[in-house]
Amino acid sequence: MERDRLLADLEQLIAPDQIVTDHAQLYDAAADRYKKYAKAKGVLDNPLPLAIVYPRSTAEVAELLAYCNTNRVNVIPRSGKTATEGGLENWKELSVVIDGSLMNEVVKIDTYNMQATVQAGVKLQDLDDRLRELGYTTGHSPQSKPVAEYGGLVATRSIGQFSTLYGGIEDMVVGLECVFPDGQVCRIKNVSRRAAGPDLKNIVIGNEGTLCYITEVTVKIFRYYPENTLFFGWLVEDVETGLEALREVVTQGYRPSVARVYSEEDANQHFAHFHKGLPVLIFTAEGPSHLVEATGKAIREAVGSLDGVVEQVDSKLIADWFNNLNWTQQSIDDEVQDMIENDRHDGYTTEISGDWETIPKIYHAVTDRIRREFPRADDLTMLGGHSSHSYINGTNMYFVYNYNINCEPEDEFRIYHHPLQTIIVEETLKLGGSMVHHHGIGKFRSQWTKQEHGSAYYMLEKLKQAFDPNGVMNFGSIYYQEQGRKYLV
Ligand SMILES: Cc1cc2nc3c(=O)[nH]c(=O)nc-3n(C[C@H](O)[C@H](O)[C@H](O)COP(=O)(O)OP(=O)(O)OC[C@H]3O[C@@H](n4cnc5c(N)ncnc54)[C@H](O)[C@@H]3O)c2cc1C
Repeated sequence: MERDRLLADLEQLIAPDQIVTDHAQLYDAAADRYKKYAKAKGVLDNPLPLAIVYPRSTAEVAELLAYCNTNRVNVIPRSGKTATEGGLENWKELSVVIDGSLMNEVVKIDTYNMQATVQAGVKLQDLDDRLRELGYTTGHSPQSKPVAEYGGLVATRSIGQFSTLYGGIEDMVVGLECVFPDGQVCRIKNVSRRAAGPDLKNIVIGNEGTLCYITEVTVKIFRYYPENTLFFGWLVEDVETGLEALREVVTQGYRPSVARVYSEEDANQHFAHFHKGLPVLIFTAEGPSHLVEATGKAIREAVGSLDGVVEQVDSKLIADWFNNLNWTQQSIDDEVQDMIENDRHDGYTTEISGDWETIPKIYHAVTDRIRREFPRADDLTMLGGHSSHSYINGTNMYFVYNYNINCEPEDEFRIYHHPLQTIIVEETLKLGGSMVHHHGIGKFRSQWTKQEHGSAYYMLEKLKQAFDPNGVMNFGSIYYQEQGRKYLV
C-alpha cells in the first residue's frame, strides 16, 4: 500500500516516462559490482528499490529529494553504475534510485579560462572526446572512463591513470552545483583559488550520495599533446625496486603521467607475453615537448641508478598495453554474461594508500596473512597488486585477487570477497595507511569508517547530522548502519 501511494506521488512529481519500475531494472539497481557474482547468478537477497527515476533538471532533482526527505524514503543517487563498493546497493524497503543520466548536456567549454562545465550525467568519455577534437583534455582517465559520468566521478573522489600529472578529481573540480535533501540548491562558484573560509566543494567531492546530489560540475581542462607521449617499461627484481623507482622520480619533482609497478602475479595478467615472471615498472611522460624530454631523461636516469632493475622493455609493448586498458560497457556486460553462463571464477580489487615507508610493509603483511590465514587460500588463482598513483609522500596499492568459487553463488561475497577485503583493510589500518584510495567507502568498508578517521570522525558525523538530519541519503554508505549488517556478512 505504502509503495503504491509513494509511486502515485512520484508520478505527480515527474513524467511517467522518467520513472522505471520494470522488475529486471529494479533487480539490477539493487546492488553494484561488489556483489556482481550473486547478481549475475540471480540470487541477490536485497530489497528492490521502489523505482528508478530520471530527472531532467536540477529543479526536478530538488523536488524529488524534498519529497523523499519529507516521506522518509531512502535515496540512492546514481550515475554511470560502475560503483564497486556497494555505493549503489539497496538496504531499505523504501528506496528510490535517482539516476542523473538524462542530465547529459555539456554546458560550456571555455578554452580561454581552461574550464568546462557539464551536467552530472555527462560521460567522461564524451567530454574528453569533445575536448580532444579541440586540442584539449580533461586529464582524467579512470579505467571506467567510457561509462562513468561526472556525478559519480565527483561523488566517489575518483582518480585516473594520469593522476601523477593531472591529479585526482579533487584537483580538477573548480566549482559545482548540488542539491541537499531538503531541496536546497547550492552553487559553488568557479574560481581559480580562494581563501574565503573552508573549501566547501571538498564537502561535496567524495560524499558518495550521503549528503547531497551533484547536478553540475565545472572542471579544469588541459592542453593535449598526444604526439609527444613517451612510454617506458622495465622488468625489476621485486616490487620494492619498482616502488623505489616511483619514489625517486616523483620526489625529485618530476611528474610522469603514468607511474606504476605491477607485482609479478599481477604483471602476469597484463604482460604474460614479456614479463618473464618478474614485476613490471611503467612510466609515461606527456605534455609539451621540452617537459616530456626532461621528464623522460629523469626517468631513465632514476631507473638506471637503481640496483634490482633487470632489463628495459620495448616501449611499443607498453604503448599497446596502455591503449587497450579501459573497460567499455560491452566488456562489463560480457563479464556478467560469462558468469551467468558458466563461470565459477571471479576477481576483485581493493585499493589502499600509505606513505613510501609503509606501503611495502602493508603489501607484505596483506599477502602473507591471506596466504597464511584465509580459509579458502587453496581456491586463490591470483593474489598480487600494483601501485598506480604516486605522490610526494607516498603511493597507493591496488590489491588484486582472483579465485575459484566453491560455494553457492549467494555465499560468494561472504566466503571470499568480504573476508579478503577485511584482511586488506585491517592490515592497512594497523600499519597507519588509509583503507580506501579511490573507490569510495560504499557499504562494504563502512564498518571501518570510524577507525579510518579516528578523532576526525566527529567532523564526518556532524556533516551527516547537518545536511541529512533525516538520514534519507544512501543509507549504509560511508556511515555504518547495524541494520544493514544482514546484507554485509
Ligand atoms: C571496470 C572499472 C574500472 C574502474 N576504474 C576506476 C579507476 O581507474 N579509478 C577510479 O577512481 N575508479 C574506478 N572505478 C570505479 C568507478 O568507475 C568510479 O568510482 C566512478 O567514479 C563511478 O562513477 P559512476 O558514474 O559509474 O557512478 P555510480 O556507480 O553511478 O555511483 C557511484 C557512487 O556515487 C554516488 N553518486 C552517483 N551519482 C551521484 C550524484 N549525481 N550525486 C551524488 N552522488 C552520486 C552513488 O550513490 C554511488 O555511491 C572503476 C570501475 C569499474 C567497473
